Amino acid sequence: MYSFTEENYIKTIYKLSANGAQEVSTNALADALDTRAASVTDMLRKLSAKNMVHYVKYRGVTLTEAGERVALQVIRKHRLWEVFLVDKLQFNWDEVHEVAEELEHVTSELLTKRLDEFLGYPRFDPHGDPIPSETGEINQPRQKLLAAMDIAETGTVVGVNDSQPHFLKYLDKIGISLGSKVKVTDKMLYDSSMEIHIEGGTTILVSSEVSNNIYLSA
Ligand SMILES: [Zn+2]
Repeated sequence: MYSFTEENYIKTIYKLSANGAQEVSTNALADALDTRAASVTDMLRKLSAKNMVHYVKYRGVTLTEAGERVALQVIRKHRLWEVFLVDKLQFNWDEVHEVAEELEHVTSELLTKRLDEFLGYPRFDPHGDPIPSETGEINQPRQKLLAAMDIAETGTVVGVNDSQPHFLKYLDKIGISLGSKVKVTDKMLYDSSMEIHIEGGTTILVSSEVSNNIYLSA
């Protein structure tokens, strides 16, 4: 059993390490968790004693296998609850992250199992992120950034990189949601913005900030 704070550290290390591949610095962790480096160091010692992390002073931290298992379970619960909130309680996709931040810490394994079953074993959350299985397997879909697409190429929106509410609200406003079919109609070399046509909708210009945060099926 781990505290909310411990679980949040473990989850954040997992995300910052590019899913466990790289070492995370104490400063990066302090930034992401909006806390002081000294508090991070204290917590890392604690997590290290619990065999959740490998922590080398001045070098950084990685998750142990046990730590990675905990991270994947927290992420699994977070994403399943997001599906529940959107599909069953009619939340909008920009409203669910904060609520799921709390629900992800509910410990009952039976509840998570029943929730998964109730939702029909969804594979992706409302932002297009893959949901780890009960045993921690995660299937990364084949996807491509909108920014990397060529003129005349088409694709279906399958995910977003920045699930901040302000970004999702903006996408709602310009008429892009998961499942939208888009076609690149022009690319502006001078500022890397793009002109895209949304099927059944309009043709719009999107900034490179936007096109670098939208994934399409490859
Ligand atoms: Zn979320």
